[in-house]
Amino acid sequence: MDNGHLSEAEIERILSSEASHSEGEKEKDLLAHCRGCPECAELLNDYGDIHREIESLKELSSHVDQTQCPSAELWIKLAAGVMDKKQAMQLVKHACECRSCAQQLTRAQRRRP
Ligand SMILES: [Zn+2]
Ligand SMILES: [Zn+2]
Repeated sequence: MDNGHLSEAEIERILSSEASHSEGEKEKDLLAHCRGCPECAELLNDYGDIHREIESLKELSSHVDQTQCPSAELWIKLAAGVMDKKQAMQLVKHACECRSCAQQLTRAQRRRP
């Protein structure tokens, strides 16, 4: 394989090993090829951009992970002020990052007499 250019899978391999800081001999060989080959270096660069985009999307989506959302009951408690400060702070912080919970909180606050 040393004579050929890098395949898509090999590029992916370099990028994922870079991300996890676990470069092995194989990845070093592949990187060495990129250093001597402008074609593959450019390919690696392009894929790197795509990777970073995907990673940043992953980060964004983890912020609105619905499985981590507090229950509706907690928003009502927060709105009613029957909650300790520390937990309230955490909920408010979550609401800042999570649209649907921000809406729940607003709704809960409106419900107050
Ligand atoms: Zn090449
Ligand atoms: Zn939420």
